[in-house]
Amino acid sequence: MKAFGGPNQRFVQFELAKIVPQKAEFNRILGEGYTRTKRCLGYVLAHDVHTAVCGWSTIEDVESAAKVAENFTGLNPKEKAELKFGELPPPPFCRDCGLCRQCPEGLKIPLILALDKYLTYYGITEWTKEVYERLAVKVADCTKCGVCEPKCPYNLPIIKMLEKAQERLSR
Ligand code: SF4
Ligand code: SF4
Repeated sequence: MKAFGGPNQRFVQFELAKIVPQKAEFNRILGEGYTRTKRCLGYVLAHDVHTAVCGWSTIEDVESAAKVAENFTGLNPKEKAELKFGELPPPPFCRDCGLCRQCPEGLKIPLILALDKYLTYYGITEWTKEVYERLAVKVADCTKCGVCEPKCPYNLPIIKMLEKAQERLSR
C-alpha cells in the first residue's frame, strides 16, 4: 500500500527501511494502526479497483483492513488533496524502477530522487533532509561517469536531477 500514492516505490521502501529503522519515524509520517490502514488502503480503494492485495503481519492487520473496506465511501476533498489523488509529479520524475541501482560509487539513486520528490511534491521538508543527512554516499560523491543514465527507461537526466536534489536536501 502506498500512503503517498504515485509510482511503485518498492526499492525506495527497502532502502528506507535500512536507513530509517525507527518505527516511530514511519509512524510520524504515515500515522499508526487503523489510521494508517485507512489512509493507505483508502487510497487504493479510491481507484475503483476490483481487488486490493494487502500485506498483513497480524490478525489485527486483517481486521483493520476489513473494517476500512467495509466502511469505505470514497476520499473526501481534504484527503484527495493530501494524497494528490489522480495526479502525478511534474516531469521529470523517477518511477523507482530500480534499473539504475548499480552506481559504481554506491549512490542510492532512486532513494535520493524519491526524497527530493517527497520534499518538493509532498512538502515533507524536515524528515527528508534528516534521511538524506544519514546517507553514507551523497550526490557530492557522484563522479558523473554517466553509467546510470542510459539504463533509465524514462530517459531521465539523472545527474542533473541528483544535483538539484542535493541542493534542496542539504541542510
Ligand atoms: S553518474 Fe554519478 S550517479 Fe550516475 S552512475 Fe555515475 S557516479 Fe553514479
Ligand atoms: S532508472 Fe530512471 S526511473 Fe528507474 S529508478 Fe533510475 S532514475 Fe528512476
